[in-house]
Amino acid sequence: GTLTVDLGERSYPIIIGRGLLSQAGSHLKKCGIRTGSPHLIITDSNTAPLYLEKLQSALESEGFQIVTAIVPAGEQSKSLAVYEEMMTRAITGGLDRKSAVIALGGGVVGDLAGFVSATYMRGTYFVQVPTTILAHDSSVGGKVAVNHPLAKNMIGAFHQPVLVLYDVDTLQTLPDREVSAGLSEMVKHGLIWDESFAHWCRDHAAELLALQPEALEYGLEKGCAVKAEVVSRDERENDLRAILNLGHTIGHAIEAIAGYGEFLHGEAIAIGMVGSAKLGVRLGADPSLETETVSMLKALRLPTVLPGHLSTDDIMSAMSHDKKFTEGQMNFVVPKAIGSVEFVRGISSDMVRDIVDELK
Ligand code: NAD
Ligand code: ZN
Repeated sequence: GTLTVDLGERSYPIIIGRGLLSQAGSHLKKCGIRTGSPHLIITDSNTAPLYLEKLQSALESEGFQIVTAIVPAGEQSKSLAVYEEMMTRAITGGLDRKSAVIALGGGVVGDLAGFVSATYMRGTYFVQVPTTILAHDSSVGGKVAVNHPLAKNMIGAFHQPVLVLYDVDTLQTLPDREVSAGLSEMVKHGLIWDESFAHWCRDHAAELLALQPEALEYGLEKGCAVKAEVVSRDERENDLRAILNLGHTIGHAIEAIAGYGEFLHGEAIAIGMVGSAKLGVRLGADPSLETETVSMLKALRLPTVLPGHLSTDDIMSAMSHDKKFTEGQMNFVVPKAIGSVEFVRGISSDMVRDIVDELK
């Protein structure tokens, strides 16, 4: 199906379905992308052998002139060094202001290509062709960035795509762990916005984990719809958009101290969402909030407890570097019930410490 991200003066479609790679040319044309200029596909070393030729030949057969760049798979490619290589490729490939930068891959490629697109000649067209489940989150909303050695996503921009083309057939080759990690963000969208969708994710966990196309299509559509709705109401992250960070304060701390790599992002935020549910119960929510959250995450084969070797002190200190922390008080996205959250300021760090201890 097709969703629309409506940003007032601009809007763009998210097209989700099967067999879309081979129809990419006509979709690009409908979004105003012309054959007169060269276009750059940026992809990574895992995705390229699987899908690059298919996308490239689909575009070339519609008359598009395509330049390609393949970066090493992994978060390390979200760097200024790789960004500069992409700029070189764009220049040598002759891209101009009417060119598109096309991201073929997961969130890493999407964030990198988006930042290239935002800054090359002060901005080109940007097309997202996501190939991971997690990328239903990252490909919508226009946040693009590379990392600084001292901090993740520190160098970036807001740059919305003109099209998100989501071919669910590409998801069939994802490793199991990446599948679960992507589903973590999907159930997050239910937990923050839509109770029945959160329950649907749990009830269809088996189909989702088995990559059953109808279930994937429905789940991605719902997840993207929540993201699109939140972003439409608050593009530049004032207060509302912050709810998308459910589980991320604790999750980012886990990722940082475990050393990037031990946990996938979706796994870390699963543990973080259990922490948020515990916090919600402390602040008055029904205790079933926690047990239900845990059962949903377990159904999707996600971790729900903190391994013992991660110390509470280390997690607290990693969180103190977070933007949401000030002088013994923290701000958190806290669930009130399944499907509804609020942004709470001034939670005492002692209470947060208790919660982190309880996660073990
Ligand atoms: P990723 O892009 O690294 O992809 C995960 C792994 O799967 C990689 O090894 C990749 O090569 C491989 N892969 C991709 N597609 C495949 C396919 N179809 N078959 C087999 N393997 C495939 O990671 P991700 O989880 O998609 O995204 C994580 C990134 O997204 C992080 O950098 C995060 O900061 C970013 N992110 C951005 C936003 C945003 O709003 N911009 C939101 C959430 C996450
Ligand atoms: Zn996330």
